[in-house]
Amino acid sequence: MSALSNKVVIVTGASSGIGYATAVELGKRGANVVCVARRIDRLDQLAKEILTLGGKAIAVECDVTSRSDVDGMVATARETFGPIDVLINNAGIMPLSFMDACKVDEWTQTVDVNINGVLYGVGAVLPEMIERRTGHIINVSSVAGRKVFPGGAVYCATKFAVHALSEGLRQELASSGVRVTTIAPGLVTTELQNAITDERVKERFRSLPEDFVPLESADIAAAIIYAMESPPHVNVNEILVRPTRQEN
Ligand code: NDP
Repeated sequence: MSALSNKVVIVTGASSGIGYATAVELGKRGANVVCVARRIDRLDQLAKEILTLGGKAIAVECDVTSRSDVDGMVATARETFGPIDVLINNAGIMPLSFMDACKVDEWTQTVDVNINGVLYGVGAVLPEMIERRTGHIINVSSVAGRKVFPGGAVYCATKFAVHALSEGLRQELASSGVRVTTIAPGLVTTELQNAITDERVKERFRSLPEDFVPLESADIAAAIIYAMESPPHVNVNEILVRPTRQEN
């Protein structure tokens, strides 16, 4: 039996990419999965798939930039399955652009989803985890949370923030039994790049070498599962995974 069997796990951004792949792996391990995003049709489909894999799941429509949505989602999760064991803060957007394009609305939205969304999730689960002296918060950051690149200033700023938040949380929670993990992927084939509107950045992605092999969502799901399945006395602080051919 998996260590994740019957664990209550919230996955934000579960309607596609890394979140979807992680939810499926949780389903295979018999977890109670709370699938969270805005596209409810996709979440319903995912919840059905998880049932066929041996897990339990609910689909909860939630915009992580809304604190009341996030509080409501966590309350629904608790009413359905009981106390939250793991929160995976995975929802994120990456509308990369050069600063001189002044896409201020995109900057604001990126900060709202990638930072405030994480904070609302943490705020909604933390008191109970501290009280129960158990729990695990997993924040999906990025290699962009370690290295800045042209066209990525705002996105990198949000992911640097995620790294800082995770590390601060980890230090403060060390004596509480609550674990904190940061996952930092390199380039993964997902829908994330679809939000890029700056043609100069799009060109950068188009110019990747033909033989470049990006990561698959399942590669990152495996890293997340590894952190979750580690025994309670082991806190996997950070996992950084790049495609073999990615230099920076
Ligand atoms: P996807 O675009 O496939 O998934 C992003 C997910 O976030 C979707 O499920 C989307 O659901 C959800 N989401 C976006 N905005 C909101 C919102 N306001 N409220 C709730 N959910 C939201 O991309 P990835 O799977 O690649 O991204 C997952 C995480 O991985 C992100 O944090 C990203 O920054 C990070 N990452 C990705 C990399 C990559 O190369 N792909 C590299 C490094 C990090 P919906 O639209 O239905 O709400």
